[in-house]
Amino acid sequence: MSRIDLPGPEILGRQGLAAAAACGVDPATVAGEQSHLSPINGRDLGGVTWSDATTVDDVVTRAEAAFREWRRIPAPGRGAVIKRFGELLTEHKADLATLISIEVGKITSEALGEVQEMIDICDFAVGLSRQLYGTTSVSERPGHRLMETWHPLGVVGVISAFNFPVAVWSWNTAIALVCGDTVIWKPSEQAPLCAWASAALLDRALTESGAPANVSQVVVGGPEIGAALVDHPGVALISATGSSRMGKAVGPRVADRFGRSLLELGGNNAAIITPSADLDLALRGIVFSAAGTAGQRCTTMRRVIAHTSVAQQLTERLVEAYARLPVGNPIAPGTLVGPLVHGKAYDAMAAALAQAATDGGKTVAGGGRVLTDAAPDAFYVEPAIVTMPTQSGIVRTETFGPLLYILTYDDLEQAIALNNDVPQGLSSSIFTRDQAEAEFFVSAEGSDCGIVNVNIGTSGAEIGGAFGGEKATGGGRESGSDSWRAYMRRATNTINYSGELPLAQGVDFTV
Ligand code: NAD
Repeated sequence: MSRIDLPGPEILGRQGLAAAAACGVDPATVAGEQSHLSPINGRDLGGVTWSDATTVDDVVTRAEAAFREWRRIPAPGRGAVIKRFGELLTEHKADLATLISIEVGKITSEALGEVQEMIDICDFAVGLSRQLYGTTSVSERPGHRLMETWHPLGVVGVISAFNFPVAVWSWNTAIALVCGDTVIWKPSEQAPLCAWASAALLDRALTESGAPANVSQVVVGGPEIGAALVDHPGVALISATGSSRMGKAVGPRVADRFGRSLLELGGNNAAIITPSADLDLALRGIVFSAAGTAGQRCTTMRRVIAHTSVAQQLTERLVEAYARLPVGNPIAPGTLVGPLVHGKAYDAMAAALAQAATDGGKTVAGGGRVLTDAAPDAFYVEPAIVTMPTQSGIVRTETFGPLLYILTYDDLEQAIALNNDVPQGLSSSIFTRDQAEAEFFVSAEGSDCGIVNVNIGTSGAEIGGAFGGEKATGGGRESGSDSWRAYMRRATNTINYSGELPLAQGVDFTV
């Protein structure tokens, strides 16, 4: 099912600039030569200006100077700035959501959800600003005490992906700022207006509080700008979100200069559907996780591993549900599946479908391009389902689009082995009413992913938990729980109030 009524490029361009201006961006300062396409119609939204990689050194120098002042402000004072930022995000929620839809093609409900996630992380960070706890421990020496102190780390470089053009930055920035760090953001080249608009709101909160200049800065451009940040010795932490290919380039370079990196990379997420699963629930969980965001979330469900006793029924019901998915203009009410981000994403999906067929797969739903008359330069596809005889190479690859493979299993250990037998380790889920199966899946012998769910899909995480995954997903954790520790440096202090100097381990060094 596909929907037309796409707005023209000039309307989208005007809407985008108006939304950015409402957030405090001066359209004249961002105009430039770099073309900038909307996935909604594949047409230019108006040229924007990119930063020059040679300016990164100056940007880092400014961030280092700001850090020296910002770290002196008590953490609750820094939290107050984030509280104000959260209020401004709430005020401009609709403007930012419009920009997200225009620049990356998210449907309105998901775009609003992304901004809500920014507001939620601000709330979390405000509370955190009074809870940057260290532990104290007993000393083996009399009259001594051991304690840990957490200090601000320095300049944090945030490199973000197109599909969460603002939320990922806010996860990093809200936490980094309360931790006393300063932030330089290299957003996705796909979403410069989203970046400038969000950063303008944060600038307003910082300025109102009298914070030093350059606590938050943005450098817009391609991978070369990201690489300049990655290589800069003044950037203490690189938090990079994107493909595993990007992480493979970034991780070793940061390590080479003994910097710290936090990598949030690709996923290849599966759900196991057991014989006892509530199939109504499973169906809803699968459709949202696999087709939502047009399959362009790192946590998108890419594989269903269904028990042979339920596989056929589940597949038939999924095919029926997929036939009802409204594909089209993401801003139009009722649309559930927007466009792919660009033609390369479509080519990758078409190539994956062809390879899956070569490997013995059968496409049982979707896969075709639609709306080619209404939007010849955009890439709308009907979400696809492919039943596969085995987990071949293409199934083990992250194809960033709405392409769901269905595999079958006979016993749970076999299903878990399939779940884990991919390079990535981000998200996973099991649908079951059997408590022992659920417990086994979340146990050490179960899923090897960073996110392991029971009776919900693989996508749609809340900010309160630590977010991230293992293996080719990069190992980083962001957002809730104790992820803040990545943004601080730990000092272990031994305090001696005894007036004597006993040495640890009973060492005698008397002169
Ligand atoms: P991408 O890897 O093409 O780009 C991501 C960012 O990295 C962009 O800002 C890009 O300019 C920059 N970049 C690319 N190469 C670089 C290099 N060598 N040095 C420095 N910077 C570089 O990814 P994308 O297409 O924007 O996003 C989709 C990918 O991101 C998917 O693989 C998805 O799974 C992943 N993703 C992961 C998470 C997560 O939290 N694990 C979240 C969102 C997206």
